Amino acid sequence: MSQLDDLYRRVIMDHYKTPRNRGQLDDGSVTVNLNNPTCGDRISLQLQLEDGVVRNARFTGEGCSISMSSASMMTDAVKGKTAEEALKLADKFSSLMKGEAVDFDEYEDIAALSGVNKFPARIKCATLAWNALRKGVEQGQGQHEGTEQ
Ligand code: ZN
Repeated sequence: MSQLDDLYRRVIMDHYKTPRNRGQLDDGSVTVNLNNPTCGDRISLQLQLEDGVVRNARFTGEGCSISMSSASMMTDAVKGKTAEEALKLADKFSSLMKGEAVDFDEYEDIAALSGVNKFPARIKCATLAWNALRKGVEQGQGQHEGTEQ
């Protein structure tokens, strides 16, 4: 195992054991439930979207270290971002999972999941949280247009 792999593994385990933004929001405006049946991962993502900005993000759920650490990193990375920026990050993550070189300089922990692209079965674990994010942002935008908010 190379030093970089070892470092990445540590970052993943750190997020898995000490997840960021785990829990529920009292003022969450959007909730998305997704699961990855091939691995048994489940995530419930809550976003607080305000004026096109992700003010807060939290998740609950259970699953493997890849899915949970990815959710922890994702929620940390998108807080304070505009919906557009959040979706761009999701696109970047998709590129990372295709094995493309992506610079996550604003949130370098995410790079720790780059090794997952070598294990096709685990890609769904890693992308689960990001798929929930896309759905949540879409839902939030729909709400914004359609209701009195
Ligand atoms: Zn998994």
